[in-house]
Amino acid sequence: MNVTGRIIIAGAGLGGLTAALALQKAGFRPLVLEQAEVLGDVGAGISITPNAAKGLISLGLGEALDSNAQAPLQQLVRDGLSGNQLMCIDRSKVRERYGAAYYMMHRADLHALLVAAVLANDAGAIRTGQKLVGVAIERGQARIDLLGSPSIRTDVLIAADGARSLIRTVLFGDDGARFTGHVAWRLLVPAEAAPEAARQPGSVVWTGAERSFVRYGVRGGSLVNCVGLTRTGQWRGEGWSQQVPVADMAAEYAGWVSEVTGLISAAPGGLVNSWGLFVRPAAERLVAGPVALLGDAGHPMLPFMGQGAAMAIEDGVVLGRCFAESASPAEALARYEAARLERTRFIQAESAAGAERLQQAGPGKARLARNEDSLGIFDYDPAMVPV
Ligand SMILES: Cc1cc2nc3c(=O)[nH]c(=O)nc-3n(C[C@H](O)[C@H](O)[C@H](O)COP(=O)(O)OP(=O)(O)OC[C@H]3O[C@@H](n4cnc5c(N)ncnc54)[C@H](O)[C@@H]3O)c2cc1C
Repeated sequence: MNVTGRIIIAGAGLGGLTAALALQKAGFRPLVLEQAEVLGDVGAGISITPNAAKGLISLGLGEALDSNAQAPLQQLVRDGLSGNQLMCIDRSKVRERYGAAYYMMHRADLHALLVAAVLANDAGAIRTGQKLVGVAIERGQARIDLLGSPSIRTDVLIAADGARSLIRTVLFGDDGARFTGHVAWRLLVPAEAAPEAARQPGSVVWTGAERSFVRYGVRGGSLVNCVGLTRTGQWRGEGWSQQVPVADMAAEYAGWVSEVTGLISAAPGGLVNSWGLFVRPAAERLVAGPVALLGDAGHPMLPFMGQGAAMAIEDGVVLGRCFAESASPAEALARYEAARLERTRFIQAESAAGAERLQQAGPGKARLARNEDSLGIFDYDPAMVPV
């Protein structure tokens, strides 16, 4: 395939980096432009479900996942007030059933693995301190304007610049972001400060009216990752890094089981991260001329199925394969959109509906039965689906 210059990827998040690695595997030399001065990801856990894990394994990261992540054998769902068990999901046969494990790990570790793999292929593949401030399509090429650097023209621009994608806003129309009333809370508790019960392997989700709380261990169980999701009538700002006093979170979970309240009160420095969750309309298309949306830029979703990064990873793997198998960039991008639009719109819709299923008081078997397993989400293999 004839690509003039380099394929540009805007954003070195999990999606952009996976795309870079997949394109390198396909024989291309992409360039990733990242606004941050220093590469990294936030201090939080992430679950990499088998569908995404298959993609990462296809890019050569299988051993690294096994040594950096945990693969819990079961996931429990409990009532937040009584502690009663509502469901036990057996994960002991996940590898046999889906072809990859269900991993849980530290986000920064996964990010570092991807950075190392991309740079091992091409030491100049990622440029930091490159903030994209404008974009346009001119004579079939994308023009990228950068803060403090000359503009770049490219035959292919992959927009992996996250949920607040400038590229999506400019080239695909104003995104109409709307606060959902859902608020996320996150903290990492050192195992030695966590309640005894919270040091047990596996993951537990507690549910109740308009709130939920999940915990699982990362970094060999030395840290307990905790994420709370609650609803509020009050507007909250967007952005992973805002810190608030732990008392704000404790008030949301007053009366919940001691494992949850004990984890919250063990927040290091008495602070937790908290931010509002926004939705954007599902994209009608993922491609405009030489530009493709990837990851949260194309399909930001609520975290009720833990599939946002998984979709970004799937996108990246499929994109690489489309370029490997096409005669022109236009053909590759058309194949990419055809392969990804329906799946990502489906997962986006299910993730939004997941809030209603998860955050209710009382018995849960029936409502919780519609989940990632029963929806067949893990069957998908981005390294094998037809493109
Ligand atoms: C509470 C919570 C828990 C979650 N848990 C999970 C989970 O367990 N599993 C899962 O699969 N998903 C999870 N997600 C979703 C997941 O975090 C996202 O879907 C994923 O990070 C998206 O990756 P991305 O690469 O598309 O975007 P991002 O991670 O947002 O990366 C975008 C990158 O682009 C850069 N950038 C942005 N604008 C510019 C610009 N103008 N110029 C240059 N660079 C720019 C940013 O600095 C960043 O590095 C969760 C989300 C939330 C809110």
